[in-house]
Amino acid sequence: MLREQFPGLNVTVHGKPLVYLDNAATAQRPQTVLDAVQAYYTRFNANIHRGVHHLSEVATERFENARASMARLLNAPSARQVVFTRGSTESINLVANTFARERVQAGDEILISHMEHHSNIVPWQLLCQQTGAVLKVIPMNQRGELCLQSLDELITERTRMLAVVHVSNSLGTINPVKEIIATAHARGVPVLVDGSQAVPHMAVDVQDLDCDFYTVSGHKMYGPTGIGVLYGKMHHLEAMPPWQGGGEMIAKVTFEKTVFNHVPAKFEAGTPNIAGGIGLGAAAEFIMHTGIDAIQRRDAELLAYATEKMQAIEGLRIIGTAAEKTAVISFVLDGVHPHDLGTVLDHYGIAIRTGHHCTMPALQFFKVPGTARASFAFYNTEEEIDYLAESIQKAREMFA
Ligand code: PMP
Repeated sequence: MLREQFPGLNVTVHGKPLVYLDNAATAQRPQTVLDAVQAYYTRFNANIHRGVHHLSEVATERFENARASMARLLNAPSARQVVFTRGSTESINLVANTFARERVQAGDEILISHMEHHSNIVPWQLLCQQTGAVLKVIPMNQRGELCLQSLDELITERTRMLAVVHVSNSLGTINPVKEIIATAHARGVPVLVDGSQAVPHMAVDVQDLDCDFYTVSGHKMYGPTGIGVLYGKMHHLEAMPPWQGGGEMIAKVTFEKTVFNHVPAKFEAGTPNIAGGIGLGAAAEFIMHTGIDAIQRRDAELLAYATEKMQAIEGLRIIGTAAEKTAVISFVLDGVHPHDLGTVLDHYGIAIRTGHHCTMPALQFFKVPGTARASFAFYNTEEEIDYLAESIQKAREMFA
């Protein structure tokens, strides 16, 4: 049983068995990831890349193997195109502060979408403030789908960058990023895709997408926290200036001049999250071994089952009803504040998330201050969904 490989699911909360439906915030980790992290700290704990001693060599090899695993998962042409970062947020900030900063001047435009996570809004806003560039937004419709008919008009000769989320964390929408990228490229605009919520749920092939940059969040793909990836096209990574300075990102330092290291080391200043990287490699291997197609099929089953159950609850409105969705259900319940609902469900042992999910503009669009969000992973069960629906009913009656 796949589920048994996740010890974090096997706990009780308030005396009840945990029903973990907060996977979009962070997923649980399989034993193989926990073992990989533990092995690093207990069996070959050493700093990487610089050491000549045995442990350092083993640690370096595992860390670099993890990079190769991530490259395979994303179908990156080379492991060198996988830059380890702290997560999607840092990956986006890196691109905004290097690649984009070099290209953007006053009056230029950066295009994002209405459903972006704050991580894919604020770095661009900061860049706009610093350069005098303008942030433009691709609108969405009432189902939570991007209005792509307007894309061609929104792209102008001043557009320097398009940054778009692959899968929305608050609405579940899967955006047709391949099509968006093709449209942007036809107008000479490079594209960054925020893949935080896509990689844990669907096959991602960066070469097929032809994206310029793709960001990955480790803790959402069953890996450790504080680790993620920036994939970039090699010619971009080669041309980009470094962002943070320090050890590891240099080839030679004198007080007069520093020669930077090659890609990806150029972007990995300081001692990295070694245990996190090794754990992330194990998470990538876990996904490939389980099979992303099987994961995707199970997600779709859970989404269909949960949608039907939730729609049957009186006074419940699902926010985000795109035709293409991952297993995320954001909803509001008449007469019950999402936070109150979340608190009641917690007492039943159910972990959901409530609030704006770091997508305030998206929720403003739907004119709700927040939602309750149940987000599923392949290890969730129909029984858990039944229990969620029953518990929401009980909460409704309680607040009636
Ligand atoms: N983008 C999306 C769509 C997300 O869901 C998240 C995490 N909630 C992020 C970006 C930020 O990712 P990280 O935690 O890796 O910085």
